[in-house]
Amino acid sequence: VDTETRHVLIEARLSELLNLLHLSGPHFDETPRRVASLLEAFTHQEVDVVAVLKSGLESNHDNMMVVQTNIPFKGLCAHHLVPFWGEAAIGYLPKTRVVGLSKLARLGTAAGERIPSTQETITSTIADVLWKGGRNESEVEAENGTGLNSAGVAVVSRAWHGCMAVRGPNVPRAQTVISAMRGAFVYSPNTKDEFLNMVNLSWK
Ligand SMILES: [Zn+2]
Repeated sequence: VDTETRHVLIEARLSELLNLLHLSGPHFDETPRRVASLLEAFTHQEVDVVAVLKSGLESNHDNMMVVQTNIPFKGLCAHHLVPFWGEAAIGYLPKTRVVGLSKLARLGTAAGERIPSTQETITSTIADVLWKGGRNESEVEAENGTGLNSAGVAVVSRAWHGCMAVRGPNVPRAQTVISAMRGAFVYSPNTKDEFLNMVNLSWK
């Protein structure tokens, strides 16, 4: 079905749902339309997170670490369709390519809004897109390079989950922190430490 037809069907199902829950009255008149739009905003399945990085620039930067923090991301949890939101810090070790700084921020947004997901998936998606650029392992090995042709990629995310706050354990302040390391960040403790120190500097 096309997008418009799908929207109409979703609204109709949501109206049925409100009826089943005996929810009616002026506050609910526009609710099916609003909730349909909300759900659609988090199911941009066509978002190509790899395309976000297409505009990388050839440039030599040896012995440098690029770290960007406070990159917002948000999504709907795949298990409850309840929002979660947070920030990511992304670091990489450029070799022959750099990526526009705005692209790192856009990658966080794109990864979160592609499909209802989990924080784990969003974190590893960001790392893998930067590391492998959407290519499979053998292609990466054959080229002896990566998505950014970097020597390593590191991502740390921290998020608050609506489904933890208002149901289940009911712990609204619980913060979930997840890291995904690739390349030098895996095998060099010094490199990992340097990244985490840089994140701590700006992440108070
Ligand atoms: Zn959940």
